Amino acid sequence: MKRNFNDDISTPEKFVITLELVPGREFSGRTTDSIKEISNQAFVDGRISAVSITDNPGGNPALSPDVLGRDILDKGMDVIVHFTCRDANRMGLESRALQLAHMGLKNILALTGDYSGQGFGGRGTPVFDFDSVILTSMLNDLNRRLIKVGHDSVFVTGCAISPFKYTEAESWIQYKKLERKIEEGASFAITQLGYDIDKYEELLFFMRDKELEVPTLASLYHLGRGAARVMNGGKVPGVHVSSDLFNTIEKQWDIPEEGRAAAIERTARLGVVLKGIGYKGIHLGGIHGSFAVVERILDRMEAIEHNWQEYRADFQEDKKDRFYLYHKDMDPKQKIPAKDPITLNLSESCHYLFLRAAHDLFFDKAASLAPMYKKLSSSLDKTKRSWMLKRFVEDPFKKIVLSCEGCGDCGIQHVGFLCPESGCPKHTRNGACGGSKDGYCEVNTDKLCVWVRAYKRMKKYGETDKLTAEYVPPRLWELKDTSSWVNFHLDRDHQRESK
Ligand code: SF4
Repeated sequence: MKRNFNDDISTPEKFVITLELVPGREFSGRTTDSIKEISNQAFVDGRISAVSITDNPGGNPALSPDVLGRDILDKGMDVIVHFTCRDANRMGLESRALQLAHMGLKNILALTGDYSGQGFGGRGTPVFDFDSVILTSMLNDLNRRLIKVGHDSVFVTGCAISPFKYTEAESWIQYKKLERKIEEGASFAITQLGYDIDKYEELLFFMRDKELEVPTLASLYHLGRGAARVMNGGKVPGVHVSSDLFNTIEKQWDIPEEGRAAAIERTARLGVVLKGIGYKGIHLGGIHGSFAVVERILDRMEAIEHNWQEYRADFQEDKKDRFYLYHKDMDPKQKIPAKDPITLNLSESCHYLFLRAAHDLFFDKAASLAPMYKKLSSSLDKTKRSWMLKRFVEDPFKKIVLSCEGCGDCGIQHVGFLCPESGCPKHTRNGACGGSKDGYCEVNTDKLCVWVRAYKRMKKYGETDKLTAEYVPPRLWELKDTSSWVNFHLDRDHQRESK
């Protein structure tokens, strides 16, 4: 019988296991053959609900998960296609979604995606017309449209969440973003990879606390020495492998046989602990070449799962100088108060207060002067002079204050009065991507993530509730190089849109 991932995650008593497979830069050959072979064997084994196939991982070109997924689906195994926002604009994304629907590939993991890597001739353009929240919303909208014309619901959309953030700002933003993703239609979640059981558990507590009832799979990885080195070095965005763990693995691999056996044991132990603490399933990566290692991990899990509490301590990390949302005993009713006092330098404070005051004065449609601004905007627009306002007042001011790129559809009010276009290489509008580390940007590693800056500003003034409080739609490209001030008052920008 064919596998059905959606049925499995919807079955209350079922513990779901999925495998993450990574295509190579080839249309056929060793990696492609081995992915197909692993998928076939996973189907025969019967314990795997779906294989998930990455989408140009690391931002580098690889065989599309769509075509590979189709081949695998034909053999009976269900597939989760990773779907990122990096390589196509909204037309490309929607077209790809229609193509997937046509091919029968329904399970989608909606991701913002890693930043662009290396393609022919060098680094490619990072598109990021959408972020993962907007992509989820688009897929949900497409489902509604397809149902309206008589199709069954097409997409089962999932989202990623990285609980392995150790500053208050990053943790807070990741969790808020998860709420937005679920609101926009994500019906399952998969965590990033980490080896910190308190963080894995923190996510479950948060979801229970907020009544976010979507089945959640925890990522784990069959971790060899090479992968541990790369992950510990921070080269895989959002993944957490501590130095202690890396050093242990290094030692174990002095004798390769021991290293291999320890990798299987570690993966099985983490698997049973994750099952024990309440995850709906596991999402297993690091499987290359053969399904045999998966069999050994799953067999071992079956043998030791009754003792799962014994292994919990293996994955407990030193909490010193790290932010955790809940107290040590993980009682969700006792949130840890912010340990780090929010430090906001004078220029950040002044920048925020100044722009907030200007926004309240000029860009509040409920304010008493709003009708006058509207009249003025209308008059400038009718006489085709709004470009003068833009060129001689708006541009010089916003370039200095915000490094404005002139998109004409200003979104600074959603990001603590920082620009999501110039300030974030992925142009995220609904919360940070999962790639920040210790507060710093995944791409511009010497700069704080724009969302961390926004959080600090709003925390200082007691306004964090306003940050990522609601869905922010995509920017309107038709407004590029026009006056965002006029567009706002004439109800042309993204804020006029009702979803
Ligand atoms: S600024 Fe933040 S959200 Fe944007 S790419 Fe960098 S880490 Fe990701």
